[in-house]
Amino acid sequence: MSEKKLPIGHGQMLELASHMETPFYLYDETAIIEHARRFRKLFAWAPGFCNYYAVKACPNPAILKLLAQEGFGADCSSLPELLLSKASGITGKKIMFTSNDTPPEEFKAAYEAGAIINLDDITHIEALEQAAGTLPDTICFRYNPGPDRTGNAIIGNPVEAKYGVTTSQIVDCYKIMKEKGVKHFGLHTMVASNELDGTYIVETARMLFALAIRIQKEAGVRIEFIDMGGGIGIPYRPDQEVMDLAKVSSEMQELYQGMIVPAGLDPLQIVFECGRVMTGPYGYLVSKVLHVTKKYKDYVGLDASMANLMRPALYGSYHHITVVGKDKMPCDHTYDVTGSLCENNDKFAIDRKLPEVKKGDVVVIHDAGAHGHSMGFNYNGKLRCAEYMLKRDGSVVMIRKAQTCDDYFSTLRFDGAEVVI
Ligand SMILES: *Cc1c(COP(=O)(O)O)cnc(C)c1O
Repeated sequence: MSEKKLPIGHGQMLELASHMETPFYLYDETAIIEHARRFRKLFAWAPGFCNYYAVKACPNPAILKLLAQEGFGADCSSLPELLLSKASGITGKKIMFTSNDTPPEEFKAAYEAGAIINLDDITHIEALEQAAGTLPDTICFRYNPGPDRTGNAIIGNPVEAKYGVTTSQIVDCYKIMKEKGVKHFGLHTMVASNELDGTYIVETARMLFALAIRIQKEAGVRIEFIDMGGGIGIPYRPDQEVMDLAKVSSEMQELYQGMIVPAGLDPLQIVFECGRVMTGPYGYLVSKVLHVTKKYKDYVGLDASMANLMRPALYGSYHHITVVGKDKMPCDHTYDVTGSLCENNDKFAIDRKLPEVKKGDVVVIHDAGAHGHSMGFNYNGKLRCAEYMLKRDGSVVMIRKAQTCDDYFSTLRFDGAEVVI
């Protein structure tokens, strides 16, 4: 069971929602820090342990700085993510650049930033060399095990995945880079997304450890770090359990002792690129009820829409919903909870049991702290909402203002078309 609580009292939440324009995102600083410290402590045995926070999960400097203070880095896959990380004080090898289908100017920028570049493809060796004019001292490759590994529900079957270097190409990648004078090597994979079964993570470690040993034998290249990617899931549903990270860590340690140490590859640095598990449970989307109505079904219409949180519409994902101040009431009503987009899949929940909802009620949508605000969009002219941080001292600070119509229109040419050719 995972308990779905608010980070502040219901009374306080109602007060916040009356002060601030809804919808908005609220992140719980204390919980993010506590989780980051726990994660680091669990992997204290692992040489050079680090989590490169996947910036796409919550690209806000306040979040990046918080994690940087805990010793974590940033995993970027675009130029703006790279710039955002640098502006948040994360630089050099604290940046992992894991891109795919990468434009040359982004390779160049990642090289110039001194980031660790994680190549997605064997043809990217040449692409990087051309873009940067040279190769960095350190390189990493993303491995796709293909038919050697069954996929998970979200990321799908590795054979169908567009990412990574295949089993038959991987050794050659390192041979080529060694010949070209690259000095330091890493090995990456990402074969799961939102996975709650810890054995999947342990098996990924086993696969990468074995591959590092094979690369040592066949390419004469010593892998210095293993990048486990992201993909650790969170229990979106109250009846799901958190992944037992302590167990994952101790099983990985056993594998390390049994495989890496005898192969003479110790110390082998171990890093992750988790986004979801770092901030997901600690972010909340706060919204107000605009309409409650009966059609063929009962509907609750919010002032938030899938433009604020796309996951339910995109993946059919469950996000728990709390009707603030009604936690003692029985959940004896069944509603579809909708947004206002002209899209019938703009629903946060379908046939959800809730207490009786009234117009003006405040609802909190849980587990929105990763792949939430960042997946937002402007379709139907919906403006992106504000983000706030609930600080350790109990204060609430704005970390992103809500988009205005002027912001939204700022790239348009109202004074007529601009001739480009
Ligand atoms: C999305 C992504 C991550 C983060 O995944 P989470 O599920 O948020 O942990 C890490 N690495 C890469 C390459 C990704 O694409």
